[in-house]
Amino acid sequence: MKILVLNCGSSSLKYQIIDMDTKEVMCKGLCERIGIDGSKLTHKVPGKEDLVKEEAMPDHKKAVEMVMAAITDADHGVIKSVDEIDAIGHRVLHGGEKFTKSIVVDDAVKAAIRECFDLGPLHNPANLMGIEACEAAMPGKPNVAVFDTSFGMGMEPKAYTYAIPSEYLEKYSIRRYGFHGTSHDYVSHRAIEFAGLDPKNAKVIVCHLGNGASISASIGGVCVDTSMGLTPLEGLIMGTRSGDLDPAILQFICNKEGKDVNEMLNILNKKSGILGMSGGISSDFRDIEKEAENGNEKCKTALEAFRYRVAKYIGAYAAAMNGVDCICFTAGVGENDKNTRKLICEEYLGYLGVKIDDERNDVRGKETIISADDSKVKVLLLPTNEELKIAMDTQALVK
Ligand code: ADP
Repeated sequence: MKILVLNCGSSSLKYQIIDMDTKEVMCKGLCERIGIDGSKLTHKVPGKEDLVKEEAMPDHKKAVEMVMAAITDADHGVIKSVDEIDAIGHRVLHGGEKFTKSIVVDDAVKAAIRECFDLGPLHNPANLMGIEACEAAMPGKPNVAVFDTSFGMGMEPKAYTYAIPSEYLEKYSIRRYGFHGTSHDYVSHRAIEFAGLDPKNAKVIVCHLGNGASISASIGGVCVDTSMGLTPLEGLIMGTRSGDLDPAILQFICNKEGKDVNEMLNILNKKSGILGMSGGISSDFRDIEKEAENGNEKCKTALEAFRYRVAKYIGAYAAAMNGVDCICFTAGVGENDKNTRKLICEEYLGYLGVKIDDERNDVRGKETIISADDSKVKVLLLPTNEELKIAMDTQALVK
């Protein structure tokens, strides 16, 4: 079975075709600057030169048509006709309270995705455009929506309820939803397989540390808690997002600087995190590490605060689950940065009996147990694979 996986952003579209018999990525690509000048498609096939097409893409419909042309291209294509695609899996950011798992798209599902536009204003409209573009380009093929929020729907009320007047919670469906759900779901289940843990009772903490960063706790693959909230702003310190903070800071800066709450939210989402803490140097962890090594105090503090926040959440989640069997590191920083993994574990997690094996930890992007044999908690590096998880859910629903 061949599955096309689509991840539409407001001005971008990422795609992959995955052959589910071999789990191999046949091709992948990116459409950039959709709806703005200078649109470009880059199509990659293993062992071949990239195909680059610079052509106006006024909307996602045109982008999907260009993807169809690239994947069936005489030189760079990987299939003869789009008929060879069995189904399309779509990443959808927000499923609100309706969707606890992935679902085959019909009119009711599209209406529900539309109802969540308020909750995911940048992504949900683009996700829906991607679905409708595929319906137009490949009539009759099943489309499956895989929600970033589904994993978080496993939480109990005590974990997802905010302590604000209940009338707002009820009127506006305000709760902790959690994001990066596809990644947390994939990695927590993979951890159980890879480390041979008890599939029903394993207590797993997944640290998804990338530009966007979040952490989850799950028992037997069911989410107990996760750090992102109603929106992806809450939780860890990220590339450009502040994560947790005292909400009174918003009012304080608004009053001092004559700003409104929308401007503040923009600052907290796009100009904070390690970018903000470093005085605007970079949102990229590698740049901040380089500057910290050169003695920049703000960068040093930013990295220390990042690790400290991750460790605080691990402690909180170990308490939430009354124990932890396995801690996983994933995403850009988690998969590539051995120092961050080592420092989080050694500076803060000794009390849990966590011991890192330096030789095993000297690895990037490869499934590995990085803890020592006598560590009380298994620590893993597990590369995330959101596209494969979307394809797996799609295959299961259309089989
Ligand atoms: P996202 O998908 O949220 O955009 P990624 O998961 O791709 O983010 O992670 C990107 C981040 O990973 C960047 O900040 C980058 O600096 C960081 N990163 C990648 N490689 C390394 C490395 N070797 N050391 C430290 N950070 C790294």
